[in-house]
Amino acid sequence: MKLNIYKIAEPIAVQRDSKGRATAGSIDSDRMPEKLFSLKGKIALVTGGSRGIGRAIALTYAKAGADVAIAARGMNGLNTVQSDIEKTGQRCVAVSADLSSDKEIKRLHETVTAKLGSIDILVNNAGIGYFVALMDLAYHQFSDVLRLNTWAAVHLSQLCYPGMKQKGKGVIINIASTGGIKPDIFAGAYSASKSALIMFTKQMACEWGHDGIRCVAICPGLVRTEMAADLVAHREKHGFQNLVNRVGEPDEIAGMALMLASDAGSYCQGAIYLMDGGSTVSASWG
Ligand code: NAD
Repeated sequence: MKLNIYKIAEPIAVQRDSKGRATAGSIDSDRMPEKLFSLKGKIALVTGGSRGIGRAIALTYAKAGADVAIAARGMNGLNTVQSDIEKTGQRCVAVSADLSSDKEIKRLHETVTAKLGSIDILVNNAGIGYFVALMDLAYHQFSDVLRLNTWAAVHLSQLCYPGMKQKGKGVIINIASTGGIKPDIFAGAYSASKSALIMFTKQMACEWGHDGIRCVAICPGLVRTEMAADLVAHREKHGFQNLVNRVGEPDEIAGMALMLASDAGSYCQGAIYLMDGGSTVSASWG
């Protein structure tokens, strides 16, 4: 088999001296913050964009200049986010789709590309939590979680790949979890689905990176959303298990998602970014 030579995601121009060395201290105008974090001219699809982390990412992308498609299980919430996005002056397409179904995933992809064009930035954010003691976990429960949290992300990425490959660039951001890195009590199926998503992120980078596509994952710790409402209430009453002594807010995850989607993240490839207030760091006396 012939090995592909890597075509790295479009490098940022660096000012060089007569010997081709980067000029120390020079500031390239493309590296100024307004351009660096701009998504002008980009088309983004954010799954689970009706609320929580997905909503925050979708709005942030629109404010950075992208046209944004959002998808969720029902129209409840999507309409409000769509109108908030349109207020920024960007186009928005809202699609109600159950991403547990391959047919629905295909319909979502076809609708978005027909209405907005080929997708430049895909954020696989839709997910469900599932909490049950290991001894009570049944296969159908495990497969339901895996189907949405892992397979939907992989399949939607497969559908976006040809368009990104044709353009020679694209970004896929998978929203995993600290649960994919360390176990949480009663979260076996959820944690396994996020571990698998982390591995698929690296796999995508290895197989699609040579086409100019960057594939990365964000692992949030506990964030104040509907999914985590009970756990947030519990931690606020009984104490936080991190180093910042509070839970995260959806906007804080959106900042990382903007950096990774824009030229600011041009050197980020195949990596997993923790945003967890230090919950995965533990220090002890031995
Ligand atoms: P949320 O429950 O507030 O939002 C989930 C979104 O996914 C909603 O828009 C919902 O409609 C959509 N969704 C759920 N099932 C779907 C389906 N079958 N088809 C289509 N859309 C579906 O959750 P959130 O906290 O914003 O979570 C977003 C992502 O972040 C998830 O992947 C979650 O696992 C991850 N995450 C959340 C936390 C946290 O503490 N909130 C921590 C780590 C990771």
